[in-house]
Amino acid sequence: MILSGRKFAKTVRRNLAEEISKTGGRPPGLAVVIVGDNPASQIYVSMKKKACEKAGLISRIVHLDEAVSENRLLREIESLNQDSSIDGILCQLPLPEHISDETVASSILPSKDVDGFHPVNVGKLWRGEEGLFPCTPVGIIALLKHSEIRIDGVNAVIVGRSNIVGKPMAALLLREHATVTIAHSHTPDLPGLCRQADILITALGKPHFINSEYVKPGSTLIDVGITRTSEGLRGDVDFEQVKDICGAITPVPGGVGPLTIAFLISNTMKAWNRNR
Ligand code: NAP
Repeated sequence: MILSGRKFAKTVRRNLAEEISKTGGRPPGLAVVIVGDNPASQIYVSMKKKACEKAGLISRIVHLDEAVSENRLLREIESLNQDSSIDGILCQLPLPEHISDETVASSILPSKDVDGFHPVNVGKLWRGEEGLFPCTPVGIIALLKHSEIRIDGVNAVIVGRSNIVGKPMAALLLREHATVTIAHSHTPDLPGLCRQADILITALGKPHFINSEYVKPGSTLIDVGITRTSEGLRGDVDFEQVKDICGAITPVPGGVGPLTIAFLISNTMKAWNRNR
C-alpha cells in the first residue's frame, strides 16, 4: 500500500478551509519569520504562505536581513506575541550561526508556538498534556490513523533523534501505546534493530540509506528524509528495493512532505480556536 501524504494532506486542508469559512469573525493569522536569503527556506516560506491563504488564513511574512542581531529578531517576535491578529508564529530554520535556535524557540509565546518547539510545549508533549506539537510527527500519526495502520502495541523504530522529528515522533507514538526505540548514529547493528520494527520511521537525511536489509516483511515504512540531489528529491529509503517487502510505504516526494504544511494550518487553527 502506498501511503499518499499528498492526497491525505489535500483532504485535511480542504476540511480546515471549510471550518474556517463556516466560523465567522476574524480569520486565523500566521506569522512566518525568515532570516536571510536561503533559497530552500524561501521556497518553504512561499509554499506555506500560498497554502495558508488558500485555506482562508491571513499569513504575514516577516523577512529580516541575514545580519540582523538576535536582539532585533527577539523584538520582532515580541511584537508578534502582542499582536492580537496573529495566532501562530514560526521562525523558519535554519537560522544564521550568530542566532540561537533555542533562544528564539523560547521567545515565542507557547500559545502561539505552532512549530511546537517551545520548552513548555515539549514538556506538555512528554507529560501527555494538551499543547501545540511539531507538525511533521503530528501529521505522520494522523496519516497512520487515516490509513488504519495499527499503532497500539506494535514495535516502532525511529532512526534519527532530532528535536524536530525523531524525539517528538517518539513521544507521539508512545501516547498511542507503541513500544518505541530511537536509533541514531551510535546505534549498533542498525539493520537488525530496524528489522524488528512493525513501523519504521526514518529521519536521517541520507538518500536511499535504508535498503532491503533494514525491513521486516509486511511492516510500515514512513520516510521523512528529503535530500535534494542532482537527480531530484530523494528519501532515506530505497523505495524500489523495499516496496515488495514492506506492507505500506510513503513515497518521496508525495509522502510525508505535504503533511507538514497541512498540520501547520491545523496547529494555527488550534491556536486560533484557543486564542479567540
Ligand atoms: P538531523 O537533525 O540532521 O538529524 C539526523 C539524525 O539522523 C541524527 O539523529 C543522526 O544521528 C541520525 N543519523 C545520521 N546518520 C546516521 C546513520 N548512519 N545511522 C543512524 N543514524 C544516523 O535531521 P532532521 O532535521 O530530523 O531531518 C532529517 C531528514 O528529514 C532530512 O532529510 C530533512 O530534510 C527531513 N525532514 C523532512 C520534513 C518533512 O518532510 N516535512 C520535516 C523535517 C525534516 P546523531 O544524532 O547521532 O547524529
